[in-house]
Amino acid sequence: FTIEERLNANAWDVDIHRPHIKIKDPDMCRKCEKKPCTYMCPAKCYVQQGDIIVLSTEACVECGTCRVVCPHGNIEWNYPRSGMGIWYRFT
Ligand code: SF4
Repeated sequence: FTIEERLNANAWDVDIHRPHIKIKDPDMCRKCEKKPCTYMCPAKCYVQQGDIIVLSTEACVECGTCRVVCPHGNIEWNYPRSGMGIWYRFT
């Protein structure tokens, strides 16, 4: 199975009113040279558009990678509220 096939087997209960991850300071992303979130996130939640980073948490697999790889500590990361977020289904 590819990563995409495995991710497609999961289900999400998205907490649309309270994203569990936030970019603390969007201006910091503009200055960030390598922008590792855009290529390290397995769910491709971070997309560069021009000089800004757009974060969409709907497909987040709650791995915590973005929090670790951000060289500026610019990610506010919490688990989703109880019962929300990813529901893992193993294939
Ligand atoms: Fe992507 Fe993992 Fe961060 Fe979720 S926790 S946004 S899947 S890197």
